[in-house]
Amino acid sequence: MKNKYDVIIIGAGIIGCAIGFELSKKGWKVLNIDKNPASGYGSTSTSCAIIRVYYSTFEGCAMAYEGYHYWKNWSKYLENCNARDLSRYINCGCMIYKTEQNNYLKKIINLAKQLDIPYELWEAEKIKSILPIADVHQYSPVKSVNDDEFGIHNNKVLNGSVFFPNGGYVTDPQLATRNLQYASEKKGGNFIFNSNVIKIIKRNGRASGVVLSNGKEIFSNVIVNVAGPHSMKINKLAGIDNLNKIKTKALKVEVCHVPSPVNFNFEKDGFVISDSDIGCYSRPETGNNILIGGEEPECDKKIFVDPDNWDKNFSEQWNAQVLRQAQRYPDLPISSSIRGVVDLYDVSDDWIPIYDKSDLPGYYMAIGTSGNQFKNAPVAGVLMSNLIEYCENGNDHDSNPLDLNLKHIKRKINLSFFSRNREVNKDSSMSVLG
Ligand SMILES: Cc1cc2nc3c(=O)[nH]c(=O)nc-3n(C[C@H](O)[C@H](O)[C@H](O)COP(=O)(O)OP(=O)(O)OC[C@H]3O[C@@H](n4cnc5c(N)ncnc54)[C@H](O)[C@@H]3O)c2cc1C
Repeated sequence: MKNKYDVIIIGAGIIGCAIGFELSKKGWKVLNIDKNPASGYGSTSTSCAIIRVYYSTFEGCAMAYEGYHYWKNWSKYLENCNARDLSRYINCGCMIYKTEQNNYLKKIINLAKQLDIPYELWEAEKIKSILPIADVHQYSPVKSVNDDEFGIHNNKVLNGSVFFPNGGYVTDPQLATRNLQYASEKKGGNFIFNSNVIKIIKRNGRASGVVLSNGKEIFSNVIVNVAGPHSMKINKLAGIDNLNKIKTKALKVEVCHVPSPVNFNFEKDGFVISDSDIGCYSRPETGNNILIGGEEPECDKKIFVDPDNWDKNFSEQWNAQVLRQAQRYPDLPISSSIRGVVDLYDVSDDWIPIYDKSDLPGYYMAIGTSGNQFKNAPVAGVLMSNLIEYCENGNDHDSNPLDLNLKHIKRKINLSFFSRNREVNKDSSMSVLG
């Protein structure tokens, strides 16, 4: 039958393309469908693309450390098929401050030891010598800028930090997605763009195709929802939105793009920083700039939206993040011109993704990426392709969940961790840190 594929992947972001690549390598006839005009144009395009190796859980850290190896060897992973125009991975390292909120990183240090992830402990003086622009006083708890106490430190110095030399960022997340698309096409993968899926076709109690907004029907017995912030809408089309225990929804977020303090080359000498003392994360950006995102401090209201109808303008959040960062870097130039991005995270109830089958046979989900799965995309591709193969071969992943071998770090994780029907994971940071 024409218009029939082994698998239809709804979405051609970094994760949709990684899944497509892995299934194409296994010899499946793959079709990625996206309503945008090109791959990586959805939430992937605005990603800070930070590659860090620390999460709050064993599985989170293991997956991230495995993922780091793919970014380090990007061309090899793509089987050297993108001769030109490869996205670049900058290995500048990542530092996370020890704070009361993260229990002085006891858990993360322990996880790093278990997984043999290299790290260094830095005292406040060392931080100051490497990052002379930093004021290393404590400012917590994170406050709203209208708070009378905002910007006043509590006369104590931070308790140091943990620096992970293996980590950094990808300079162009959209280009990385195009690299994956090309690698997938080389293996026979197919893509259609400007094509909005408006219906999931079901036959004999299983997913069997999709209908596009132009009326065209495309058939497959395997459909994967990788629709990013639209994941909940696609689950609704499949009629399974109320069946998953863990739900996903779209959260508005803002990232600020500001110049580094003068006299410091943040692009060259800076690194990725998670600073829960001021509620911000940051990374170097081209042109000696800094990207600043929020770590969902308690004092900030979360703005959940309809991904098809929301206010794409910057709000007071932009200002709050820049002023909070200026507590740490008192010489941070505060400009009146607002630069950065406004976009959506696809947030799950515990900020851990759902990588799972569903209650509708043939329908799978790689969703709820909660602002923290760009780095894990290559591993998610391997994970989902193995999971789909496992289920389509007649195995019951619910009663007998699959293990995933992480080949670079030589560890195994059980995929029930990402189940749609798990209890909310109490170990999660319940923030973008996962
Ligand atoms: C501002 C921001 C900063 C981030 N920073 C980081 C970071 O530093 N590190 C990190 O690891 N992660 C980060 N993330 C998260 C990371 O970018 C995402 O987890 C990842 O890009 C999700 O990829 P995806 O392929 O699942 O989704 P997307 O890239 O959103 O792709 C989904 C695609 O589905 C398509 N689609 C939706 N509905 C339909 C439909 N009905 N029909 C057809 N197509 C449809 C969309 O057009 C879209 O292209 C960040 C995210 C944001 C928004």
